[in-house]
Amino acid sequence: MTESTLSLPSGDWPTLEPGWVWLCGAGPGDPGLLTLHAINALRQADVIVYDALVGQEILSWAPEGTELVYAGKRGGKPSAKQADISLQLVDLARAGKRVLRLKGGDPFVFGRGGEEAQTLIQHGVPVRIVPGISAGIGGLAYAGIPVTHRDVNQSVSFVTGHDQTGGPTGSLDWEALSRASGVLVIYMGMKHAPTIRDGLLKAGRPADEPVAVVSQATLPEQRVLETTLDAMVEDIANAGLEPPAIICVGRAVLMRQVLDWQALMRGEAPRNTDPLGRGKPAEQG
Ligand code: SAH
Repeated sequence: MTESTLSLPSGDWPTLEPGWVWLCGAGPGDPGLLTLHAINALRQADVIVYDALVGQEILSWAPEGTELVYAGKRGGKPSAKQADISLQLVDLARAGKRVLRLKGGDPFVFGRGGEEAQTLIQHGVPVRIVPGISAGIGGLAYAGIPVTHRDVNQSVSFVTGHDQTGGPTGSLDWEALSRASGVLVIYMGMKHAPTIRDGLLKAGRPADEPVAVVSQATLPEQRVLETTLDAMVEDIANAGLEPPAIICVGRAVLMRQVLDWQALMRGEAPRNTDPLGRGKPAEQG
């Protein structure tokens, strides 16, 4: 193994042993959102099997000589079959490699990490799971949107916009979701945005409910669209927003008017320091 320049704080970091697979989240994009366990894995892996959503910069941190294997799965593009990826991981481990399976966001959030880990364990391959920051939480935070906010919601639902076949999620109970959660965070929702909008409107969510669409969250290319439920489909098209994007539905989106910290960093003033009309700081309430 080539000596890596990636240094870690001193401590007893786990060793990635030959024949093991570490299933690891890479976060939503910004390399600074990697965990220390992920860095520790990058330093030791013989081979990294990575997804489309894992950034090149992160991969470039792997020591020279690390084998990089692309196993992307992106809607519309030719991609490896899930079973093939899982079995490829089994083969690499059985060949005695130290395997890092690197996935965008968190491996267990709409990332099929559970399936891969299950297959590995079924084949007797030892695994370690390293969580990552999921786009639906960290990506929204980069847009200045808190997924929970005391004045808005006591629960949040993470929803996938399409099912296993790539079609709109037919089994989603939009009414139950609407009743249960003041804030809905929708992954993979761009393709089926009209179905999502219609489902939520039919379930009784207000037409003027705030919606944010955050594409390429946490990356320099991040774009944020603020819109409403009834206008979102048209506005997404007009803005030319492309996946990957997170759709956030709910009044938490309004908090961006005060919490858009990237705009503040650029020297802009907050648009509205009290977007929910509370009148005073919550802590004093
Ligand atoms: N395991 C990942 C999700 C994989 S599903 C996680 O925890 O984040 C892929 C979906 O994640 C995309 O369609 C998009 O909705 C979302 N996503 C991932 N990275 C993103 C990013 N940088 N910006 C916006 N959305 C992202």
